[in-house]
Amino acid sequence: MSPFHQTLQQLASLATVRGDAAEAALWARAIDLVRAHNIESDADAGPLFDDPPAGSDPDVLKRLRQMYEAGGWVLVESAIADLPIDLRWLFESGAVTIDQLAEIHRALAATSAADIGDAVREHRLRALPGFTAEVEDAVATALPALRSLVPRIPLGRAVAVAETVLEPLREVPGVAWAVPVGSLRRGQDMIGDIEILAATDQPAAAVDALLSLPASGHVLHRGERRLYVLTERVQIGVRLAAPSNAGSDLLYLTGARAHFEALQAHAAARGLSLKADGLHGRDGALIPAAAEADIYSALGLQVIPPEIREGDDAIAMASRGDLPVLVSSDDIRGDLHMHSVWSDGRDAIEAMVEGCRALGYQYMAITDHSPHSAASRNLTLDGVKKQADEIARVREQYPDIAILHGCEVDILPDGRLDFPDKALEALDIVLASLHERAGHGPDQLMKRYASAMSHPLVTLITHPTNRLVPGRGGYDLDYDRLFALAAETRTVLEIDGAPSHLDLPGALARRAIAAAIDSDCHRSDLLRRQMDLGIATARRGWVEPRHVLNTRALADVRSTIEAKRASR
Ligand SMILES: [Zn+2]
Ligand SMILES: [Zn+2]
Repeated sequence: MSPFHQTLQQLASLATVRGDAAEAALWARAIDLVRAHNIESDADAGPLFDDPPAGSDPDVLKRLRQMYEAGGWVLVESAIADLPIDLRWLFESGAVTIDQLAEIHRALAATSAADIGDAVREHRLRALPGFTAEVEDAVATALPALRSLVPRIPLGRAVAVAETVLEPLREVPGVAWAVPVGSLRRGQDMIGDIEILAATDQPAAAVDALLSLPASGHVLHRGERRLYVLTERVQIGVRLAAPSNAGSDLLYLTGARAHFEALQAHAAARGLSLKADGLHGRDGALIPAAAEADIYSALGLQVIPPEIREGDDAIAMASRGDLPVLVSSDDIRGDLHMHSVWSDGRDAIEAMVEGCRALGYQYMAITDHSPHSAASRNLTLDGVKKQADEIARVREQYPDIAILHGCEVDILPDGRLDFPDKALEALDIVLASLHERAGHGPDQLMKRYASAMSHPLVTLITHPTNRLVPGRGGYDLDYDRLFALAAETRTVLEIDGAPSHLDLPGALARRAIAAAIDSDCHRSDLLRRQMDLGIATARRGWVEPRHVLNTRALADVRSTIEAKRASR
């Protein structure tokens, strides 16, 4: 085969991998055409365009002209760039040729590293035509690095992008459920590509519906039960599983890898075998699982929440029936941290109240920024009084929800608060925060925290590590000391759900004792999403409802505030 014919063959293969049958057929016709006219290189194709043979396909001629003008490799490169991201990186790692990539896809229906990884572990790759043990080893070596090559996006952005597909997908007739899988379902701070799993007996209807969405502008792969699109520079993959065994897919695709491997070991110890396609009995037959719970229960385990499937002590606890019930959105009775137009929020107090009422909250707190905060707009001392008048008016309008008047007051470089006590005393709740490091090292930052926490009017410290997702790590503090101080001073530490905070992060939240989960929302339409992000972060920290101030009734919240104030 001449290099030219080989290039055409590769373009046909890549179209097949993308699931684009029409494009694959077009390249097949192009191969027939150049063979029939003995054209051995793209540079020789000129006469085809000057004097097109009778009956030749204009689409084929158009593609061949593109090759003639740009060079075949340009088309191949752009076809590779259009593959689902794991396949693209696998090829670019140099582990496989395009032909081998096409064979992996054909034989394994693989569209992701997870699919290929499974085959590699079971040594199924080396048996494929055109493969050797060496190629399989090269793939095994390349796979772990693939995921680290995928550009990562913050959880908050991933949730927003995933919603553009999840919401319409759930409306498609026949779709029983649809959820994100992988690191997104586990609530990790940073996400690679987005993968969604839906259970349906009518995959064709779901694929058609998804293709009609604006988010599906750029299709990377379509198959009978899979669709990969590129939207806002993020890859979204959708898998459509048969409902009878969709629980198996959900468990495998959610990961994390270490958790799945620990489950495999647990299954093996019981004479069962857990594979990518599900749990197999002693006779080797698949035991279909419509829900993940079917598998956990067959393994003698409590269902382990996705956010704590990280391969640590969760399985041992689940086998003893000792897993705690983690906090969920049903437990949340109010939101104690949000901003309005009185500082840098987008919406009026009234709109924030409406948003909180729609979420069924019993209470909420308006907590705008103090004068020295780095926010784009801040509340002035004079503003606090005017804001109190407005809140009094809004309270009359909405007697069905308690509106606390609060403030997110900055902790100044010397540890004092950014409003005089007189102003703070008039508020229902005071949150304190370090928005500005002021060039301080860990010891000085801790002193500022200690000073604020010992202030009787301060109920809560917002986003304690002050990290920024992505891009800025949190303060390098002695957090156990901070948590001890919080306990001593009866100060609550926040788990802030704003996408740029997610702070305390899960691992620290697990070590903290008392917490509040807040949205820190600046616009009414994101109150739910940001609270959900806070809850996911808390769940990664094994946080239970009893640890969380705003799972309690308003009277309890008030008495927590009063108890500390009374200690003056
Ligand atoms: Zn803040
Ligand atoms: Zn805030």
